[in-house]
Amino acid sequence: MPDHLPGPLGAPLAEPLFDCVTLIGIGLIGSSLAHVARRKGLARKIIAFDADAGVSARVRELAIADEVAGSLKSAVRDADLVILCVPVGAMGAIAQEIAPFLRAGAIISDVGSVKCSVLAAVAPHLPPGAVFVPAHPIAGTEFSGPDAGFASLFLHRWCILTPPEMTDPKAVAKLSAFWTGAGANVEVMQPAHHDLVLAITSHVPHLIAYNIVGTAAHLEEVTQSEVIKFSASGFRDFTRIAASDPTMWRDIFLNNKEAVIEMLGRFTEDLIALQRMIRHGDGQGLFDLFTRTRAIRRAIIEQGQDTAAPDFGRRREES
Ligand code: NAP
Repeated sequence: MPDHLPGPLGAPLAEPLFDCVTLIGIGLIGSSLAHVARRKGLARKIIAFDADAGVSARVRELAIADEVAGSLKSAVRDADLVILCVPVGAMGAIAQEIAPFLRAGAIISDVGSVKCSVLAAVAPHLPPGAVFVPAHPIAGTEFSGPDAGFASLFLHRWCILTPPEMTDPKAVAKLSAFWTGAGANVEVMQPAHHDLVLAITSHVPHLIAYNIVGTAAHLEEVTQSEVIKFSASGFRDFTRIAASDPTMWRDIFLNNKEAVIEMLGRFTEDLIALQRMIRHGDGQGLFDLFTRTRAIRRAIIEQGQDTAAPDFGRRREES
Protein backbone atom coordinates (compact mmCIF):
# COMPACT_ATOMS: atom_id res chain seq x y z
CA MET A 1 0.00 0.00 0.00
CA PRO A 2 1.46 3.46 -0.89
CA ASP A 3 2.55 5.51 2.15
CA HIS A 4 0.16 8.41 1.50
CA LEU A 5 -2.96 6.20 1.73
CA PRO A 6 -4.45 5.72 5.21
CA GLY A 7 -4.70 1.89 5.06
CA PRO A 8 -7.46 -0.18 6.66
CA LEU A 9 -7.11 1.67 9.99
CA GLY A 10 -8.10 4.94 8.32
CA ALA A 11 -6.67 8.42 8.67
CA PRO A 12 -5.76 9.90 12.10
CA LEU A 13 -8.53 11.81 13.88
CA ALA A 14 -8.67 15.53 13.21
CA GLU A 15 -8.64 16.20 16.98
CA PRO A 16 -7.35 13.77 19.67
CA LEU A 17 -10.05 12.36 21.98
CA PHE A 18 -7.87 12.54 25.10
CA ASP A 19 -5.00 14.76 26.26
CA CYS A 20 -3.13 12.00 28.04
CA VAL A 21 -3.79 8.25 27.93
CA THR A 22 -1.93 6.05 30.44
CA LEU A 23 -1.56 2.36 29.70
CA ILE A 24 -0.65 0.14 32.65
CA GLY A 25 0.80 -3.27 31.67
CA ILE A 26 2.51 -3.20 28.28
CA GLY A 27 1.99 -6.70 26.95
CA LEU A 28 0.14 -7.75 23.80
CA ILE A 29 -2.93 -5.60 24.50
CA GLY A 30 -1.18 -2.58 26.10
CA SER A 31 1.41 -2.33 23.33
CA SER A 32 -1.24 -2.75 20.61
CA LEU A 33 -3.21 0.10 22.20
CA ALA A 34 -0.07 2.25 22.26
CA HIS A 35 0.54 1.55 18.54
CA VAL A 36 -3.02 2.31 17.46
CA ALA A 37 -3.44 5.34 19.76
CA ARG A 38 -0.41 6.92 18.13
CA ARG A 39 -1.28 5.83 14.59
CA LYS A 40 -4.84 7.15 14.86
CA GLY A 41 -4.01 10.25 16.96
CA LEU A 42 -6.39 9.16 19.73
CA ALA A 43 -4.38 11.00 22.42
CA ARG A 44 -2.00 13.97 22.56
CA LYS A 45 0.30 12.01 24.87
CA ILE A 46 0.69 8.29 25.63
CA ILE A 47 2.27 7.24 28.93
CA ALA A 48 3.24 3.60 29.54
CA PHE A 49 3.88 1.86 32.84
CA ASP A 50 4.86 -1.76 33.49
CA ALA A 51 5.89 -3.34 36.79
CA ASP A 52 8.64 -5.28 35.01
CA ALA A 53 11.84 -3.23 34.51
CA GLY A 54 12.81 -5.35 31.48
CA VAL A 55 9.44 -4.66 29.83
CA SER A 56 9.81 -0.90 30.56
CA ALA A 57 13.27 -0.88 28.98
CA ARG A 58 11.92 -2.68 25.90
CA VAL A 59 9.02 -0.20 25.60
CA ARG A 60 11.58 2.63 25.62
CA GLU A 61 13.56 0.88 22.85
CA LEU A 62 10.43 0.31 20.79
CA ALA A 63 9.46 3.99 21.34
CA ILE A 64 5.76 3.12 21.28
CA ALA A 65 4.89 5.61 24.07
CA ASP A 66 5.79 9.28 24.60
CA GLU A 67 6.89 8.51 28.14
CA VAL A 68 7.64 5.37 30.16
CA ALA A 69 6.79 6.22 33.76
CA GLY A 70 8.91 5.04 36.68
CA SER A 71 6.02 4.86 39.15
CA LEU A 72 2.26 4.44 39.12
CA LYS A 73 1.88 7.90 40.67
CA SER A 74 3.76 9.67 37.88
CA ALA A 75 2.03 7.44 35.31
CA VAL A 76 -1.54 8.46 36.19
CA ARG A 77 -1.49 11.97 37.70
CA ASP A 78 -1.94 13.79 34.33
CA ALA A 79 -4.09 11.19 32.59
CA ASP A 80 -7.66 11.78 31.49
CA LEU A 81 -7.88 8.11 30.48
CA VAL A 82 -6.15 5.25 32.35
CA ILE A 83 -6.44 1.72 30.91
CA LEU A 84 -5.40 -1.28 33.01
CA CYS A 85 -3.91 -3.85 30.62
CA VAL A 86 -2.66 -6.35 33.24
CA PRO A 87 -3.90 -9.87 34.11
CA VAL A 88 -7.33 -9.69 35.79
CA GLY A 89 -5.95 -10.87 39.14
CA ALA A 90 -3.67 -7.80 39.33
CA MET A 91 -6.31 -5.11 38.66
CA GLY A 92 -7.64 -4.55 42.21
CA ALA A 93 -4.23 -3.87 43.76
CA ILE A 94 -3.32 -1.43 40.97
CA ALA A 95 -6.65 0.43 41.37
CA GLN A 96 -5.94 0.79 45.08
CA GLU A 97 -2.45 2.12 44.42
CA ILE A 98 -3.40 4.68 41.73
CA ALA A 99 -6.60 5.92 43.43
CA PRO A 100 -5.02 8.81 45.44
CA PHE A 101 -3.29 10.23 42.35
CA LEU A 102 -6.13 10.19 39.80
CA ARG A 103 -7.24 13.48 38.25
CA ALA A 104 -10.82 14.57 38.93
CA GLY A 105 -13.00 13.45 36.02
CA ALA A 106 -10.49 10.87 34.77
CA ILE A 107 -11.95 7.82 33.01
CA ILE A 108 -10.56 4.52 34.31
CA SER A 109 -10.95 1.46 32.13
CA ASP A 110 -9.45 -1.99 31.64
CA VAL A 111 -9.20 -4.70 29.00
CA GLY A 112 -9.71 -7.72 31.26
CA SER A 113 -11.27 -10.86 29.84
CA VAL A 114 -13.62 -11.20 32.86
CA LYS A 115 -15.91 -8.35 33.92
CA CYS A 116 -17.83 -9.10 37.19
CA SER A 117 -14.71 -9.82 39.25
CA VAL A 118 -12.80 -6.85 37.81
CA LEU A 119 -15.72 -4.54 38.60
CA ALA A 120 -15.82 -5.88 42.17
CA ALA A 121 -12.03 -5.59 42.57
CA VAL A 122 -11.54 -2.12 41.06
CA ALA A 123 -14.67 0.01 41.68
CA PRO A 124 -14.50 0.16 45.51
CA HIS A 125 -11.01 1.74 45.41
CA LEU A 126 -11.75 4.56 42.99
CA PRO A 127 -12.39 8.11 44.24
CA PRO A 128 -15.85 9.66 43.58
CA GLY A 129 -14.42 11.97 40.87
CA ALA A 130 -13.17 9.10 38.68
CA VAL A 131 -15.47 7.24 36.28
CA PHE A 132 -14.97 3.51 35.81
CA VAL A 133 -15.96 2.10 32.40
CA PRO A 134 -14.80 -1.54 32.13
CA ALA A 135 -14.07 -2.87 28.64
CA HIS A 136 -13.00 -6.08 26.92
CA PRO A 137 -11.66 -6.14 23.37
CA ILE A 138 -12.41 -9.53 21.80
CA ALA A 139 -9.09 -9.60 20.01
CA GLY A 140 -5.86 -11.37 20.73
CA THR A 141 -3.19 -13.80 19.71
CA GLU A 142 -1.30 -16.49 21.61
CA PHE A 143 1.70 -14.14 21.93
CA SER A 144 2.45 -11.87 24.87
CA GLY A 145 4.81 -9.06 25.79
CA PRO A 146 5.52 -5.61 24.29
CA ASP A 147 6.94 -6.99 21.03
CA ALA A 148 3.72 -8.87 20.29
CA GLY A 149 1.57 -5.77 19.80
CA PHE A 150 0.46 -4.27 16.48
CA ALA A 151 -1.83 -1.41 15.49
CA SER A 152 -4.48 -3.42 13.63
CA LEU A 153 -5.13 -5.97 16.42
CA PHE A 154 -8.56 -4.48 17.18
CA LEU A 155 -9.58 -3.75 13.59
CA HIS A 156 -13.16 -5.02 12.94
CA ARG A 157 -13.12 -6.88 16.28
CA TRP A 158 -15.74 -6.33 18.97
CA CYS A 159 -15.00 -4.38 22.13
CA ILE A 160 -17.58 -4.95 24.87
CA LEU A 161 -18.13 -2.15 27.42
CA THR A 162 -19.78 -3.11 30.72
CA PRO A 163 -20.40 0.20 32.55
CA PRO A 164 -22.12 -0.10 35.94
CA GLU A 165 -25.61 1.42 36.14
CA MET A 166 -25.61 5.20 36.62
CA THR A 167 -22.22 5.61 34.88
CA ASP A 168 -21.91 9.06 33.26
CA PRO A 169 -23.06 8.43 29.65
CA LYS A 170 -20.53 11.02 28.40
CA ALA A 171 -17.67 8.89 29.75
CA VAL A 172 -19.15 5.76 28.09
CA ALA A 173 -19.50 7.66 24.79
CA LYS A 174 -15.90 8.92 25.02
CA LEU A 175 -14.45 5.47 25.69
CA SER A 176 -16.64 4.07 22.94
CA ALA A 177 -15.18 6.69 20.54
CA PHE A 178 -11.66 5.64 21.63
CA TRP A 179 -12.32 2.00 20.73
CA THR A 180 -14.08 2.93 17.50
CA GLY A 181 -11.02 5.04 16.67
CA ALA A 182 -8.89 1.94 17.30
CA GLY A 183 -10.91 0.17 14.60
CA ALA A 184 -13.20 -1.88 16.86
CA ASN A 185 -16.99 -2.29 16.85
CA VAL A 186 -18.40 -1.42 20.27
CA GLU A 187 -21.24 -3.12 22.16
CA VAL A 188 -22.52 -2.39 25.68
CA MET A 189 -23.49 -5.36 27.86
CA GLN A 190 -24.24 -6.33 31.48
CA PRO A 191 -21.05 -7.69 33.12
CA ALA A 192 -22.68 -11.01 34.15
CA HIS A 193 -23.96 -11.57 30.62
CA HIS A 194 -20.49 -10.80 29.24
CA ASP A 195 -18.93 -13.40 31.56
CA LEU A 196 -21.44 -16.07 30.50
CA VAL A 197 -21.02 -15.40 26.77
CA LEU A 198 -17.22 -15.35 27.01
CA ALA A 199 -17.20 -18.53 29.10
CA ILE A 200 -18.59 -20.48 26.13
CA THR A 201 -16.93 -18.56 23.27
CA SER A 202 -13.46 -18.18 24.77
CA HIS A 203 -12.80 -19.56 28.24
CA VAL A 204 -14.10 -23.14 27.84
CA PRO A 205 -12.47 -23.50 24.37
CA HIS A 206 -9.14 -22.51 25.93
CA LEU A 207 -9.65 -25.00 28.75
CA ILE A 208 -10.40 -27.74 26.22
CA ALA A 209 -7.22 -26.84 24.30
CA TYR A 210 -5.11 -26.86 27.48
CA ASN A 211 -6.67 -30.22 28.38
CA ILE A 212 -6.26 -31.97 25.03
CA VAL A 213 -2.64 -30.86 24.67
CA GLY A 214 -2.02 -31.92 28.28
CA THR A 215 -3.65 -35.33 27.62
CA ALA A 216 -1.53 -35.91 24.51
CA ALA A 217 1.60 -34.94 26.42
CA HIS A 218 0.71 -37.42 29.19
CA LEU A 219 -0.02 -40.42 26.95
CA GLU A 220 2.44 -43.10 27.87
CA GLU A 221 2.04 -45.27 24.76
CA VAL A 222 2.68 -42.28 22.45
CA THR A 223 5.98 -40.50 22.93
CA GLN A 224 6.21 -36.70 23.06
CA SER A 225 8.31 -36.70 19.88
CA GLU A 226 5.56 -38.61 18.00
CA VAL A 227 2.94 -36.12 19.23
CA ILE A 228 5.04 -33.31 17.78
CA LYS A 229 6.20 -35.12 14.63
CA PHE A 230 2.79 -36.43 13.53
CA SER A 231 0.68 -33.55 14.82
CA ALA A 232 -2.33 -33.21 12.51
CA SER A 233 -3.93 -29.86 11.83
CA GLY A 234 -6.66 -30.34 14.45
CA PHE A 235 -4.08 -30.92 17.18
CA ARG A 236 -1.82 -28.14 15.88
CA ASP A 237 -4.68 -25.63 16.18
CA PHE A 238 -5.22 -26.71 19.79
CA THR A 239 -1.49 -26.28 20.54
CA ARG A 240 -1.65 -22.70 19.27
CA ILE A 241 -4.45 -21.89 21.71
CA ALA A 242 -2.75 -23.83 24.51
CA ALA A 243 0.38 -21.69 24.05
CA SER A 244 -1.48 -18.66 25.47
CA ASP A 245 -0.07 -16.83 28.48
CA PRO A 246 -0.31 -19.03 31.64
CA THR A 247 -0.73 -16.12 34.11
CA MET A 248 -3.50 -14.48 32.10
CA TRP A 249 -5.43 -17.73 31.72
CA ARG A 250 -4.96 -18.86 35.32
CA ASP A 251 -6.51 -15.53 36.38
CA ILE A 252 -9.40 -15.87 33.92
CA PHE A 253 -10.44 -19.29 35.26
CA LEU A 254 -10.08 -18.23 38.90
CA ASN A 255 -12.15 -15.09 38.24
CA ASN A 256 -14.93 -16.51 36.04
CA LYS A 257 -15.44 -19.67 38.08
CA GLU A 258 -19.25 -19.91 38.08
CA ALA A 259 -19.85 -19.21 34.38
CA VAL A 260 -17.02 -21.56 33.33
CA ILE A 261 -18.28 -24.38 35.57
CA GLU A 262 -21.84 -23.89 34.25
CA MET A 263 -20.67 -24.07 30.63
CA LEU A 264 -18.31 -26.99 31.35
CA GLY A 265 -21.29 -28.91 32.77
CA ARG A 266 -23.21 -28.42 29.53
CA PHE A 267 -20.14 -29.30 27.47
CA THR A 268 -19.62 -32.52 29.42
CA GLU A 269 -23.26 -33.57 28.88
CA ASP A 270 -22.93 -32.97 25.14
CA LEU A 271 -19.62 -34.86 25.03
CA ILE A 272 -21.24 -37.87 26.66
CA ALA A 273 -24.06 -37.70 24.09
CA LEU A 274 -21.40 -37.76 21.34
CA GLN A 275 -19.66 -40.71 23.01
CA ARG A 276 -22.99 -42.56 23.01
CA MET A 277 -23.53 -41.83 19.29
CA ILE A 278 -20.10 -43.30 18.48
CA ARG A 279 -20.68 -46.36 20.69
CA HIS A 280 -24.11 -47.05 19.10
CA GLY A 281 -22.90 -46.36 15.56
CA ASP A 282 -25.34 -43.41 15.22
CA GLY A 283 -23.80 -42.03 12.00
CA GLN A 284 -26.86 -39.89 11.26
CA GLY A 285 -26.61 -38.20 14.68
CA LEU A 286 -22.92 -37.45 14.14
CA PHE A 287 -23.54 -36.19 10.61
CA ASP A 288 -26.38 -33.91 11.73
CA LEU A 289 -24.30 -32.37 14.53
CA PHE A 290 -21.26 -31.81 12.29
CA THR A 291 -23.53 -30.17 9.70
CA ARG A 292 -24.87 -27.74 12.34
CA THR A 293 -21.37 -26.89 13.62
CA ARG A 294 -20.14 -26.28 10.08
CA ALA A 295 -22.90 -23.70 9.63
CA ILE A 296 -21.63 -21.83 12.73
CA ARG A 297 -18.13 -21.65 11.24
CA ARG A 298 -19.58 -20.27 7.99
CA ALA A 299 -21.60 -17.65 9.92
CA ILE A 300 -18.45 -16.43 11.73
CA ILE A 301 -16.63 -16.01 8.40
CA GLU A 302 -19.66 -14.29 6.83
CA GLN A 303 -19.78 -11.80 9.72
CA GLY A 304 -16.09 -10.93 9.12
CA GLN A 305 -14.90 -12.26 12.50
CA ASP A 306 -12.45 -14.68 10.86
CA THR A 307 -11.27 -15.69 7.41
CA ALA A 308 -11.24 -19.03 5.66
CA ALA A 309 -7.42 -18.80 5.46
CA PRO A 310 -5.58 -21.85 6.85
CA ASP A 311 -4.00 -19.83 9.68
CA PHE A 312 -7.53 -18.92 10.81
CA GLY A 313 -7.00 -15.31 9.80
CA ARG A 314 -4.61 -14.38 12.57
CA ARG A 315 -1.97 -12.91 10.31
CA ARG A 316 -1.40 -9.21 10.89
CA GLU A 317 -3.57 -7.24 8.53
CA GLU A 318 -1.79 -4.50 6.61
CA SER A 319 -2.25 -1.35 8.66
P1 NAP B 1 0.67 -9.83 28.58
O1 NAP B 1 1.14 -9.76 27.17
O2 NAP B 1 1.14 -10.94 29.46
O3 NAP B 1 0.98 -8.43 29.29
C1 NAP B 1 0.65 -8.10 30.60
C2 NAP B 1 1.70 -7.12 31.08
O4 NAP B 1 1.29 -6.59 32.35
C3 NAP B 1 3.07 -7.79 31.30
O5 NAP B 1 4.11 -6.97 30.82
C4 NAP B 1 3.12 -7.91 32.82
O6 NAP B 1 4.45 -7.93 33.33
C5 NAP B 1 2.41 -6.64 33.23
N1 NAP B 1 1.97 -6.67 34.62
C6 NAP B 1 1.55 -7.74 35.35
N2 NAP B 1 1.21 -7.34 36.60
C7 NAP B 1 1.44 -6.00 36.64
C8 NAP B 1 1.29 -5.01 37.66
N3 NAP B 1 0.84 -5.35 38.87
N4 NAP B 1 1.62 -3.73 37.37
C9 NAP B 1 2.06 -3.38 36.13
N5 NAP B 1 2.25 -4.28 35.13
C10 NAP B 1 1.93 -5.58 35.39
O7 NAP B 1 -0.93 -9.88 28.65
P2 NAP B 1 -2.02 -9.40 27.59
O8 NAP B 1 -2.29 -10.53 26.66
O9 NAP B 1 -1.70 -8.07 27.06
O10 NAP B 1 -3.31 -9.33 28.55
C11 NAP B 1 -3.54 -8.21 29.38
C12 NAP B 1 -5.00 -8.17 29.75
O11 NAP B 1 -5.78 -8.18 28.55
C13 NAP B 1 -5.48 -9.35 30.59
O12 NAP B 1 -6.35 -8.89 31.59
C14 NAP B 1 -6.24 -10.20 29.60
O13 NAP B 1 -7.30 -10.90 30.24
C15 NAP B 1 -6.77 -9.17 28.63
N6 NAP B 1 -6.99 -9.65 27.26
C16 NAP B 1 -6.07 -10.44 26.65
C17 NAP B 1 -6.30 -10.90 25.36
C18 NAP B 1 -5.31 -11.81 24.66
O14 NAP B 1 -5.67 -12.52 23.73
N7 NAP B 1 -4.06 -11.83 25.05
C19 NAP B 1 -7.46 -10.50 24.67
C20 NAP B 1 -8.37 -9.64 25.30
C21 NAP B 1 -8.12 -9.22 26.61
P3 NAP B 1 5.09 -9.41 33.62
O15 NAP B 1 5.24 -10.06 32.31
O16 NAP B 1 6.37 -9.11 34.29
O17 NAP B 1 4.12 -10.13 34.52
